[in-house]
Amino acid sequence: MAVVETVRGPVELSDLGPTLMHEHVYVLSTEHVQNYGSDWWDEEFRVADAVAKLNSLYAKGIHTIVDPTVWGLGRYIPRIQRIAAQTPVNIIVATGLYVYEELPQQYAYRGPGLLLEMPEPMVTDFSRDIAEGIAGTGVKAAFLKCCVETSEPTPGIERIVRAVARTHLETGAPITVHTSGPHQSGRIAVRIFREEGVDLAKVMIGHAGDSNDLDYLTELADAGVLLGMDRFGLDVFNPTAERVKTIAALASRGYAPSMVLAHDANCFIDYWGGLHDTMKPQALPNWHYEHISDDVLPALLAAGVSQAQIDTMMLENPVRYFAKGGAA
Ligand SMILES: [Zn+2]
Repeated sequence: MAVVETVRGPVELSDLGPTLMHEHVYVLSTEHVQNYGSDWWDEEFRVADAVAKLNSLYAKGIHTIVDPTVWGLGRYIPRIQRIAAQTPVNIIVATGLYVYEELPQQYAYRGPGLLLEMPEPMVTDFSRDIAEGIAGTGVKAAFLKCCVETSEPTPGIERIVRAVARTHLETGAPITVHTSGPHQSGRIAVRIFREEGVDLAKVMIGHAGDSNDLDYLTELADAGVLLGMDRFGLDVFNPTAERVKTIAALASRGYAPSMVLAHDANCFIDYWGGLHDTMKPQALPNWHYEHISDDVLPALLAAGVSQAQIDTMMLENPVRYFAKGGAA
């Protein structure tokens, strides 16, 4: 039985259905909420809001979201469990770290060769999230997340990326890496993962779709990774029309098996503080879960991408990514 862990437990890979490969339910700092959130954070309202948005997404035909919210983005699984209990959408959650430069101090003094000599504690923590579940919830992480944002990764970032790679080798869990299109940092991620012996078919280069450089994108795809065409609606990084053109060009060259789709959207992100509900729709009107269903898929079809290629990106590639040892 080929399954993937979700917030509600294991789901058959064949039941994932149309999948958005990079969406957050919330991006929310616990410290921010606890110290400055009294004006804008209403737990019950936000849970109901997320349930409504996910149910509306399900009605558009999307059955699964893959949520790479880890430490650094405010992962809090009990809240996600409440939501998962009220929506048919499968939510797949992650373990790892979301930082661009600085290793959290909580890992700075523990580990091989450090003040407190011990095996790499990140590998210990990430592996437990995958094998036993997250923070006593019983919810298991199904994939790993890290970031390579800058063109020269700091020693802390390199340590995190290698810890993620080693956890992948121990557990078989696939990896999603946040990268920068302008810095073309997907190349750095591929280099480090190669050095660590990672199966590149189990690596998704997040935010590859911020780039329209076909040489860069085909170089990555030819290395065997999946390209995350995953920020539809974030027009500030790359407008939808450009993203569509790039996907169509890659699909016409036979790269549909190398691409997945998403928005990197959320129901609430505290980067906007109390201005979230008023300013986000104004500043980024298409940055929501339904932009792909409503606008992008018709645009892809009009640009010459076939329905079969869309199915490859939304159905087959996610299953292959989560299949253990190619068992799907
Ligand atoms: Zn994201």
